[in-house]
Amino acid sequence: MNGSTRSGTLSFVVVILLGTFLCLLSLDGRAFAQSEEDQRAWFGALNSLSSERMIADVRTLSSPAFNGRQDGSADDLRSAQWVAQELTLAGVQLPLIDNKGIAFPSPGASKEEPAGIMASMVSTPLIEPDPVVRTGATDQLVTAQLGRDYLPVFDSPSADLQGQVVFVGYGIVDPAQGIDDYAGVDVKNCIVLFLRGKPDHYPSPVSHADKVRFARARGALAYLTATGPIISPYEIRRGATGRPSALYGQLAPDQALPGAWISTKLAETLLAGSSDESNPDHLRTLQEQLNNAPAARSRRVNRYASLHWKTTIEDGLLTNVVGMIPGTGPEAIIVGAHRDHFGRPAGLLFPGADDNASGTAIVLEVARALGKIGLRPQRTILFLSFSGHEKDSLGSRLYTSRPVIPLGSTKAMINIDHVGVGDGVLILRVTEFKKSTLKEAGYAVGLVRKLDYYGFLPGGDDEPFKEAGISTVSIASGGAHPHMHQPTDTADTINPEILRNIARYVLALAWMLAGGQ
Ligand SMILES: [Zn+2]
Repeated sequence: MNGSTRSGTLSFVVVILLGTFLCLLSLDGRAFAQSEEDQRAWFGALNSLSSERMIADVRTLSSPAFNGRQDGSADDLRSAQWVAQELTLAGVQLPLIDNKGIAFPSPGASKEEPAGIMASMVSTPLIEPDPVVRTGATDQLVTAQLGRDYLPVFDSPSADLQGQVVFVGYGIVDPAQGIDDYAGVDVKNCIVLFLRGKPDHYPSPVSHADKVRFARARGALAYLTATGPIISPYEIRRGATGRPSALYGQLAPDQALPGAWISTKLAETLLAGSSDESNPDHLRTLQEQLNNAPAARSRRVNRYASLHWKTTIEDGLLTNVVGMIPGTGPEAIIVGAHRDHFGRPAGLLFPGADDNASGTAIVLEVARALGKIGLRPQRTILFLSFSGHEKDSLGSRLYTSRPVIPLGSTKAMINIDHVGVGDGVLILRVTEFKKSTLKEAGYAVGLVRKLDYYGFLPGGDDEPFKEAGISTVSIASGGAHPHMHQPTDTADTINPEILRNIARYVLALAWMLAGGQ
């Protein structure tokens, strides 16, 4: 050990002791770790956390071996089995789960269900490699580049079609609010182009699926969607760009249309074709007008698109992993993260390192830290690895429909998602959680100044638990996540310091909650 490491270790210990002292002060006499034995166990667990091990786990999960962990795929099942094996090695129990007779593809002769795996059947869309999208004037369509110019919407049906492009603003139909983006345009047998999101003045939520339904009801053949050139400062901070992004449209087969997310640049090119003099800012002008007030800015453009790809649907297993450290009492807490990502649609690998191999690595590392010290907490600690998140949190919904410990006895759920990049501020999205508990955990690991509290945000794996009346906190790293839903979300972009801090915080919070606080 050299001198600087020694002084680093010393200041580390001072920080911990100071944190513990402040924590003791703030606990009204309740100690973070009550007995000397507890304290030894706590420091043992805390000091065992290893960012190298977490980075290694992120590398493993985001490697081509797991092929992007698409829910329902054989890759997803293998990644679940890998997580189950790591939990076993961590000294965490894997409960036997009644999967209602679902057949697991067994690698060996054994017919036994794997312990700790909770599964249900799910249909998985697979877009075959080498899709083709062409755009341009009718007699000279130019082939667009997969990934840079467009991505097929990954659950959209097979496409083999061509049509004129019709710009339909944000693609919203709500006459009561004075908006009908289809007024005055005929989109029958055309390909509509609508912007992502909605104008600020429009008060209601509108989903991508709603927009596809509006287009289909009016006879459109297919759709293109793009982020408008005007991106809000908030979206820019979160890393929003004009690039196409991975997306599931989430429509039933009888409601879906073939569709692709195209780059802002390609959308601008298509729109420029509608004006007499070529004006590359045309889309910006239209978006400005749409953002200022309800206004119909829809128009047929003098451009065409053709879409060609094949989608097959395969039935597979959606797999959660459940590990537990049994408590002395009937109550439980949950530490969970989703593991699934977008797989390898259209032949493009989406590694999903930040989203959410990072959260999975923290769940595993916290399980190792607690498993190793032979903790016997007051409340059972459940470690959950969900699949199906990218499809409306199917996996966390599966868990709340078949909980291992009754939801009424489950006192808290910590969700961890997108914790590998950004500025390392701990964004806490909280429902019904005692702020004092969140703060005390921050004091215990010297991170209280890095905590930033927000209200609940829909769409996370905490949502089904919140709906079940459980206190939830969803933890993310603040700042920009520029590789979100991109093939560039790779392990070498992950920041070990952020992983380490968030693992320390999750450990402290789980420790307190499992002790009954
Ligand atoms: Zn995601």
